[in-house]
Amino acid sequence: MAVFGSRAFDNHEQVAFFCDPDSGLRAIIAIHNTNRGPALGGCRMWPYTSEDEAIRDVLRLSRGMTYKSAVSNLNLGGGKAVIIGNARTDKTPELLHAMGRAVHRLGGRYIVAEDVGTSVEDIRIIGEQTAHVAGILDKQTRAGGIRSGDPSPATAHGAFFGLRAAVKYKLGTDDLQGLKVAVQGVGNVGYRLAKQLHEAGAKLWVSDIYEDNLLRAAETLGATIVGADDIYGLDVDVFAPCALGAVINDATLPQLRAKVVAGAANNQLSEDRHGKELMGRGILYAPDYVINAGGIIDISYERGGSYDRDAAVAHMEGIYDTLIEIFERSAAEGLPTNLIADFVAEERFRKK
Ligand code: NAD
Repeated sequence: MAVFGSRAFDNHEQVAFFCDPDSGLRAIIAIHNTNRGPALGGCRMWPYTSEDEAIRDVLRLSRGMTYKSAVSNLNLGGGKAVIIGNARTDKTPELLHAMGRAVHRLGGRYIVAEDVGTSVEDIRIIGEQTAHVAGILDKQTRAGGIRSGDPSPATAHGAFFGLRAAVKYKLGTDDLQGLKVAVQGVGNVGYRLAKQLHEAGAKLWVSDIYEDNLLRAAETLGATIVGADDIYGLDVDVFAPCALGAVINDATLPQLRAKVVAGAANNQLSEDRHGKELMGRGILYAPDYVINAGGIIDISYERGGSYDRDAAVAHMEGIYDTLIEIFERSAAEGLPTNLIADFVAEERFRKK
């Protein structure tokens, strides 16, 4: 593929290819922008069917991290890594060590964390070869327990505050009692978000492709189970996508009856123009990379080995104010919220 000219390239500072024949490692690390700080992003392990596919993915994801960290006011840049391979069959300690050496060679310009196909334990193994790792600290929770580096609870907590901001702005209420919410995907993040909503008095409808996830939500949160295709057209206040990307598209948009779209999934809009179409239909969209930044915000607070839990939680909850600012500017400028989020991020990471 043509790299420099491609839309995904978007002036990346550096793209590095790594190969370690002994362990079978083939990896790409993309650093999109480091104006605000070192590039932090997850390492995805995926059986890409072509190198082009892997390059496109790493470029798109790394650019997205620049925007996410900038809009969240973190002193971090955007980067991402991909390992070409099957996480179930190809992952060995040797391969992860080779990945650690690759990360180390970039001298701290890129900091690696978890993503699809890599676990907290994998990042710990990578960390045996480099100090430039994140998302692995065991943390004291507010409830007194300990949780591992898994970012999902922080992502869900931030998304809960983001959803509340959208409800306040669009429906004019702080009270979630009786609020009707459709949650698509009740996995790591979706279930936790649903739990917080349930505790605040919301009524839930859920879809998932796994029976056990659905039953857990029904039994513990009193959620009503609906079919995967029926989630879009429900007569609810909020649609919360917490599964796949591209769920706001030409086919689903006409079905939506919710007044608010606010959930944690990445890349919810199939195309940018769908943000404008949501606006045209009077549906308030909480831009995905703003509302789902809780995990990266949390990780940013463990750099240097210590962790200020109260500061991290306050920052995650600040997603509420960031979204209100975006909604207000969207209304004032007559532009969709996804575009405004991009402007805010660009104002924060582009050099003046
Ligand atoms: P997960 O795999 O634990 O949960 C996703 C859930 O969606 C699963 O239960 C899965 O069965 C379900 N699902 C898949 N296809 C579906 C479909 N067609 N209809 C309904 N449900 C379906 O993943 P997660 O960590 O909870 O992440 C959820 C989303 O949030 C993803 O888009 C992810 O990229 C995004 N996200 C996650 C984090 C994080 O901290 N984990 C951070 C930022 C963004």
